[in-house]
Amino acid sequence: MSEIRHNWTKEEILAIYNKPFMELLYEAASVHRKHHDPNTVQVSTLLSIKTGGCPEDCGYCPQAARYHTDIEGNDLMTVQQVKAQALRAKESGSSRVCMGAAWRNVKDGAEFDQVLEMVRTINKLDMEVCCTLGMVTENQAKRLAEAGLYAYNHNLDTSEEYYKEVISTRGYEDRLQTIENVRKTNVTVCSGGIIGMGEKVADRAGMLVALATLNPQPESVPINALVAVEGTPLEDQQSVEIWEMIRMVATTRIVMPETQVRLSAGRTQMSREGQAMCFFAGANSIFAGDKLLTTPNPDVNEDMKMFEALGLNPQKPFTKKVQPQTVEAKDSEYQELGEKPKWTRPGHTIERNETAKKKAKLS
Ligand code: SF4
Repeated sequence: MSEIRHNWTKEEILAIYNKPFMELLYEAASVHRKHHDPNTVQVSTLLSIKTGGCPEDCGYCPQAARYHTDIEGNDLMTVQQVKAQALRAKESGSSRVCMGAAWRNVKDGAEFDQVLEMVRTINKLDMEVCCTLGMVTENQAKRLAEAGLYAYNHNLDTSEEYYKEVISTRGYEDRLQTIENVRKTNVTVCSGGIIGMGEKVADRAGMLVALATLNPQPESVPINALVAVEGTPLEDQQSVEIWEMIRMVATTRIVMPETQVRLSAGRTQMSREGQAMCFFAGANSIFAGDKLLTTPNPDVNEDMKMFEALGLNPQKPFTKKVQPQTVEAKDSEYQELGEKPKWTRPGHTIERNETAKKKAKLS
């Protein structure tokens, strides 16, 4: 029932997703218990180290410069600021810090060097370090690995077909290429998506096919529920029903048994009971802290109260994989190459993105 397979088809995944709810839940919980301690949940803190002003047109994202949202942009944080936040996250029970920068792709230079120093600094605090910085080349992935990066996040967002309805400034192939570049290092892969963007259930299954047929499968798969932010093209989307979220988590758990399934954005819209069902269905990671990059998230104390009520324990760092060694900048084997990779720019027109852009210009 729960061997790791890399040949999943969309039809098979849809059949799992659409099972009677109780059967789905039972099967997912059984797979979960076989591969993980069901009472342990990994806690990450997401830190926006460079907010807003992004040149991309992701329809769900308030950080895209072209849309009019209330996001206050900021330049890249200093290493000291990041260290202070990481220490605070550690004290409140997080084992991982995930640093996000609103960039299309990583560019060699002073800012990337600063991020590498942040990675070294947090790894030395004995916390898992994750980055989400946009597309990366193989050389950049190697430099991150050498600094002590534990995980790299690059979400597929949705199915390849529906992706074209959400984003026009970058291609699905580039996302897969970035994952492949990270795979050439010992950095683990974190890649998932968002439900509630107007996609069909078949698109959710399509995204899971793309992830589950990777070999190896991603070590971590975040499942986000869209937080519809005013000013973005998806501002009018209805929130997903809790049942959809649980079905998505359970299906992810069944097709990727070893993966850590992360309950990510959208938790503020879920009751504690709903979240408990997600944990039962196989979710075993959450993001802590009152903000997820720019969207609201439950308070850390609320999460700890929920853990207590459910008898859940935070996972210790480096439980799944040993801590990477940090190589200092002066001893690096990989210097910047100043690469100018040709990441694609499909540039097709997405009506609702265009409308949101026009509205922003008028405001
Ligand atoms: S999701 Fe990332 S790449 Fe897309 S607009 Fe937001 S910050 Fe930019």
